Amino acid sequence: MRRLLLGKSGIEVSELCFGALPMGPLQKDLDMESGSAVIARALEGGVNFIDTAQLYRTYSLIRAALERVDRRPVIASKSTAADYDGMRRAVDEALEALGVGRLDIFHLHAARADVDVFERRRGAWQCLLDCRAAGLIRAVGISTHTVPVVERAAAMAEVDVVFPLLNFQGTGILQGTVATMIAAIRRCLAAGKGVYLMKVLGGGCLVGEYHRAFAYVRRLFPDVPLAVGMVSEAEVDYNLAYFTASEAERAAMPPLPAAAKRFQVVAVVCQRCGTCVGACPNGAISQAAADQVPVIDPQLCLRCGYCVGECPEFAIRMV
Ligand code: SF4
Ligand code: SF4
Repeated sequence: MRRLLLGKSGIEVSELCFGALPMGPLQKDLDMESGSAVIARALEGGVNFIDTAQLYRTYSLIRAALERVDRRPVIASKSTAADYDGMRRAVDEALEALGVGRLDIFHLHAARADVDVFERRRGAWQCLLDCRAAGLIRAVGISTHTVPVVERAAAMAEVDVVFPLLNFQGTGILQGTVATMIAAIRRCLAAGKGVYLMKVLGGGCLVGEYHRAFAYVRRLFPDVPLAVGMVSEAEVDYNLAYFTASEAERAAMPPLPAAAKRFQVVAVVCQRCGTCVGACPNGAISQAAADQVPVIDPQLCLRCGYCVGECPEFAIRMV
């Protein structure tokens, strides 16, 4: 597994980053035994980078995995806290729950926030800077789906790491296009920011085009780590094989089996707007009432992914 430096942070990580969202209670909800086994398998296979968040509620799974393999990977987390005290509680919670003396990377969790996010959440951002100065966090940054926020982060000296979204289809990119997101990421890299990418598989809807999706971003950004959500040891093994294979070996790999996967609405993200109900060409999505989270019928779902791009909140994911 290739190791890459995250900008000027001095933090060295594996090219494959373990994305902890899908295994947690918001999506697949693996139990302690199977969840920690999945993470441990990735760590034993050469992954040394885990991305999580306060919102994902996966700290206990990660801690159990670290105890299983007795390794200390680089851990990035994030919080949606709006003010100083809330962010401080989030940092303390991460330190305590993960059982570590220092956090490697901590972001403003700002998926859909506008370009003024650093002003709107000034207290939370100041807290991260103070925690970095106090030695509680090595590097601070922002996770975002929004092109102007990536551009803004490139110009801010105090930002160490940026975690933007990119896939060849543009699924989930806000206030911009694939081209403008690529340009913004390039500006971050030119400014010495550490960058790693999320949603290369479009939240799961590009899993049938796994090789094309990864080849696309790796060609554009060969030295940028990629966060990939994993919920089974079979998925870990496939990703490990892909990220350690030669070009010829990769070409000979069978496609990633996607039969067991399904689309699901992430309740905490969904705003109950109902847009997805009309967007599904197969009538697979229903909403019992205006204040209810829509439900996707797996018997009717064709796994086309159309609803993923239509959802303004990026609340529909494949798990
Ligand atoms: S479009 Fe997205 S936010 Fe709106 S109801 Fe559907 S899943 Fe929820
Ligand atoms: S993936 Fe396609 S078929 Fe399935 S719910 Fe979404 S739009 Fe409907």
